[in-house]
Amino acid sequence: MKKTILMLYPNDSDGKDKIFHEMKNEIEKRANLNLELVNNVVDIIHRLKINVHICALIYDWDSMGMKIPHLVSKINDFLPIFALSLTHTAKDLNLSDLMLNLHFFDYISYEAEDNINKIEQEINSYYKKIIPPFTKKLIHYTDTNNYVYCTPGHLAGSAFLKSPAGAFFYDFYGPNIFRADVSVSMQELGSLLDHSGPHKEAEEYIAQAFKSDRSYIVTNGTSAANKIVGMGLLREGETVLIDRNCHKSITHLLMMCDVKPIYLLPTRNAYGIIGGIPKSEFTTKTIQEKIKRANKVLKNNHKNFKKFKWPIYAVITNSTYDGLLYNTNYIKKTLNVKNIHFDGAWIAYAPFSKIYNGLYGSYGKALKNKTIFETQSTHKCLAAFSQVSMIQIKGKYDESNMNEAYMMHTTTSPQYAFVASAEMAAAMMRGNPGKFLMSSSQEIAMNFRHEIKKLNRQNQKGWFFDVWQPSKIGDQAKCWPLKNNEKWHAYKKVDSNHMFLDPIKITILTPGLQNDKLTKFGIPACIVAKYLENQRIIVEKTGPYSLFFLFSIGIDKALSLKLLSVFLEFKREFDANLSVEKMLPNLYSIDPVFYKNMKIQELAKGIHAIYQKHRLPEFIYKAYDVLPDQHFTPYEVYQHRLKGNIKKCNLKNLINEICVEMILPYPPGIPVILPGEKVTKESETILKFLLTLCEIGKYFPGFATEIHGAWREDDGEYYTKVIKKLD
Ligand SMILES: *Cc1c(COP(=O)(O)O)cnc(C)c1O
Repeated sequence: MKKTILMLYPNDSDGKDKIFHEMKNEIEKRANLNLELVNNVVDIIHRLKINVHICALIYDWDSMGMKIPHLVSKINDFLPIFALSLTHTAKDLNLSDLMLNLHFFDYISYEAEDNINKIEQEINSYYKKIIPPFTKKLIHYTDTNNYVYCTPGHLAGSAFLKSPAGAFFYDFYGPNIFRADVSVSMQELGSLLDHSGPHKEAEEYIAQAFKSDRSYIVTNGTSAANKIVGMGLLREGETVLIDRNCHKSITHLLMMCDVKPIYLLPTRNAYGIIGGIPKSEFTTKTIQEKIKRANKVLKNNHKNFKKFKWPIYAVITNSTYDGLLYNTNYIKKTLNVKNIHFDGAWIAYAPFSKIYNGLYGSYGKALKNKTIFETQSTHKCLAAFSQVSMIQIKGKYDESNMNEAYMMHTTTSPQYAFVASAEMAAAMMRGNPGKFLMSSSQEIAMNFRHEIKKLNRQNQKGWFFDVWQPSKIGDQAKCWPLKNNEKWHAYKKVDSNHMFLDPIKITILTPGLQNDKLTKFGIPACIVAKYLENQRIIVEKTGPYSLFFLFSIGIDKALSLKLLSVFLEFKREFDANLSVEKMLPNLYSIDPVFYKNMKIQELAKGIHAIYQKHRLPEFIYKAYDVLPDQHFTPYEVYQHRLKGNIKKCNLKNLINEICVEMILPYPPGIPVILPGEKVTKESETILKFLLTLCEIGKYFPGFATEIHGAWREDDGEYYTKVIKKLD
């Protein structure tokens, strides 16, 4: 990497430009340095925004004064700045000036070679400052010549170079990933499992950046992080309070621990977008009622039952998959549960932009008598290798128990590149460079939202895509509250000051649904998703009439423009009614006979008609209004499964059977049935909804419904696993 120095020549020469010229020559002599000349302040800011290799700035203080350092600092407050001056004295500087990384050189005593040496030294300190501790030591270790005789068996990559296939693999990654793949026996790097040495420094560094009391780096995803938190807290027989909109890993936690779950029930709208858990669900009164009901159901099923008790642990998914955030202060205050675990898999970035204040789990001060845990998939929305996750903790907890659970779920041979990338994700978000990253992605998301809206307005007579957002969003990015008197969100009822929409999580709406009702004309989103797939655009999630896009810190203007132009192209081709073969070749190839001669509008009309016939939006809504009966806990069901006490069951015959799998249809991606639950006559709508989804998938090849926990066999029927016999 060439280190780049920016240089702004003085305005008034007085012979000063001769000095700048000498410095320029000196920089150009040095092989590891690059020089970029700029003409004015605007140029400086522009270059800083687009070239992150810039690591120093030189300018004339006499003509420009303190203006430049302050502007530069807004983008990068760590950047070393060198000011040459004839007239400067220390009394010209105030406190905020002194906070800057500003260095003065005197024109009179100046000496080019000397100055550039000093600048190089400062550049080195700059990198020392911005590169976090573990990574620094890992790089140092990698740079020194080591003679390795221990694991990993590839011995810093050399094993690959002895095999034709291996060498190909080695070349693909390059040497460093292998050289930095270090055995745990390297004492100087400390230990992840013991939280010692540089590993400990990494966790402390992360805790500081995320403003939490304690951080853990988890190298096996939030899937593991969730289990660690749960297993570090839960004793046998405890009652736990679980968001029904929970990730699979939480279900797995319930299968691993002998605990009794009761559920917090989120709302959803006709689009299938999960609306969050209403305020009332968190109150002591509601939880008491839930316990009472659970005990009643349990009593009917088991003779010797152990009662549900007051929960000691609660899990809430925040944000939801669609980018809705809770006012977490309300939850923390109201929910009378000792340990509150926010699954923040989707919002690891929240501490780094003010707009999320009060809306994420680990925000704010620790509460008396309550401990807050937040698990975050660093890899999902910040920059880190896949699998990298973190646990942030606020408040008191038993560290020794938590660490035992941590070790249960952590390999004894962690990948150090993962650890370094966890730490790096924090390093990138520190200071103004982090703020700048956040505000840039927010700005791109805002522009994208405005563009879609503009095109939508311009196409009043025809159709265009729309965005799921309040009617007035303004220009500044912020989290928009869902309000009861507003229609856009399509929820029947929302609590005030409770749920907020994240500006960088963008749900695009296709025509077809208005005020809860299906309209005459519609383009189901699955068709658009297929089209985007052809253009190699990967959508995060698709609902019946909605597509979800994530504008996280990696987004740039080109990517956002590409998406916009593909939407426009879709519209043009759709309106021209091209053939399915032409517009969706990937779909066509699945069944060329079926799709022969079919036009795109016919396909859209067909699928829209099926949704209409089966009243899909209404079903999505109703299916989640009731909960199935809990016959066994997920833990008990798993034991039955291990004993082989399970059988296959056609979904059609599911009434009164006890399910073994978590059954989760997409959309909306919330489990309708969890292990151990049975659908009864009272909760029949759940089954009707599942069967409707299966039915819908049958009409058009390539659009089969995805239902996790159930599978389709050659006879076209859907099956799942249930308990064989009760004993
Ligand atoms: C993805 C996800 C997880 C699991 O995270 P991984 O890092 O993929 O293991 C947990 N909870 C929620 C809500 C998720 O979306």
